[in-house]
Amino acid sequence: MKLRMSVVRSLFCAFVMAGSQTAFAQSTISATPIADRYRVNATRLIAAALADSAAYNRLARLTDTFGHRFSGSASLEAAIDWILAEMKRDGLQNVRGEKVMVPRWVRGNESAVLVSPRRYRLHMLGLGRSVGTPRAGITAPVLVVGSFDEFARRQSEAKGKIVLFDAPFTSYGETVAYRGRAASTAARAGAVAALIRSIASNSMQNPHTGAMSYDTTVARIPAAALSVEDAMMLHRMSDRGEKIVVTLKMEAKTLPDVPSRNVVAEIRGSEKPDEFVVIGGHIDSWDVGTGAMDDAGGSVAAWEAVRLIKDLGLKPRRTIRVVLWTNEENGTRGAHAYRDMHASELDKHVLAMESDAGVFKPLGYRVTGPDSAVAIARDIASLLAGIGATRVEAGGPEVDVGPLVERGVPAASPIVDGTRYFWYHHSEKDTIDKLNPREMAECVAVMAVLAYIVADMPGTLGRVTPAAGR
Ligand SMILES: [Zn+2]
Repeated sequence: MKLRMSVVRSLFCAFVMAGSQTAFAQSTISATPIADRYRVNATRLIAAALADSAAYNRLARLTDTFGHRFSGSASLEAAIDWILAEMKRDGLQNVRGEKVMVPRWVRGNESAVLVSPRRYRLHMLGLGRSVGTPRAGITAPVLVVGSFDEFARRQSEAKGKIVLFDAPFTSYGETVAYRGRAASTAARAGAVAALIRSIASNSMQNPHTGAMSYDTTVARIPAAALSVEDAMMLHRMSDRGEKIVVTLKMEAKTLPDVPSRNVVAEIRGSEKPDEFVVIGGHIDSWDVGTGAMDDAGGSVAAWEAVRLIKDLGLKPRRTIRVVLWTNEENGTRGAHAYRDMHASELDKHVLAMESDAGVFKPLGYRVTGPDSAVAIARDIASLLAGIGATRVEAGGPEVDVGPLVERGVPAASPIVDGTRYFWYHHSEKDTIDKLNPREMAECVAVMAVLAYIVADMPGTLGRVTPAAGR
């Protein structure tokens, strides 16, 4: 989605004129008024973030103690209870869980066994929201295609078969369409189940789950991901003309919604407490691995950023609110509930920042907002030269802040080195050992500096102009 943006308020003049920290004014003849004003406090925040491995240690405690945090699970709610207690111990204000009803999809036992041309247990994970199979499973010949285009040409062969979409990974944004649409595409041609090559940029036999969806006009058939290796093997067998038969068994089912919570805590603003900078991640994960990367890391980094601002005694003019959204992965109910519960405050939300790309080496910020917001972020990012995080790009928001952007709130997210993210994403391999204490500390610094400065600076980032017709 591309958002149409326009500058509603251009506030550079406000920054130049407001010079309460005159100590730095004499070094200010450049076009970086914000950077100069906040250089000392930014340096303190960066030093504090890099001083130890507090963020990584907190992430380790969270993921080691509670494991995954899938919507509807006891482990998610236990993790939220612990975080709320820890936030209170940290001395954050207005610590609370805001109730959200979330879907409860249960995986159950599952397997995919190749029965011809040889017997072999395939590496598989059912896709989130999929229906299950009959108890005896579905045993059927497999039609292997490499793309939706190839399937369109060969759909007359699909009736009564399991269709495997073995599409190579290009980008997540492009290839994820197979996870979303494989089942209904195959069902429309009479297929009885759908398999996909995992949406992954590298693989060590780890299948990757994630949300799929059904087109309501066709039958709901079960859908699962195979490891890249196994999908490619079936494709080679197919190319050789071998008869492929698979037995798919899945107990997956959707139970009634259950309550969960968005985690909210604040540092109240010293002058404008009813204006907000929101900073966060999503506290839920998939039901495999521990979701250390996606997105416990982003959640803890945001939380630690706010704790450091408080512990350094910084008192921003506006309120900084950490929000850990629930149910990003299979419903985004937390993001929509936050928007609805705080609807009357949204015109006073000056920035919403989410980290949801892994707390890898940070490189800068992606900003959703008017040109003036990008320019201010570039100015602020110059303060991160010491950790190499000065890149600023205009771009779309992370998922949980999307509903806020639609109401005009500017958004930001750390740009990180994404090389390894889709090796582990939504798989058993998403565990904390894939992350690095120093890189995570740098992510804390990047989030703390932007949140603090935007919460304290005289002007705002302006507003996002909602797309026409929304
Ligand atoms: Zn995520």
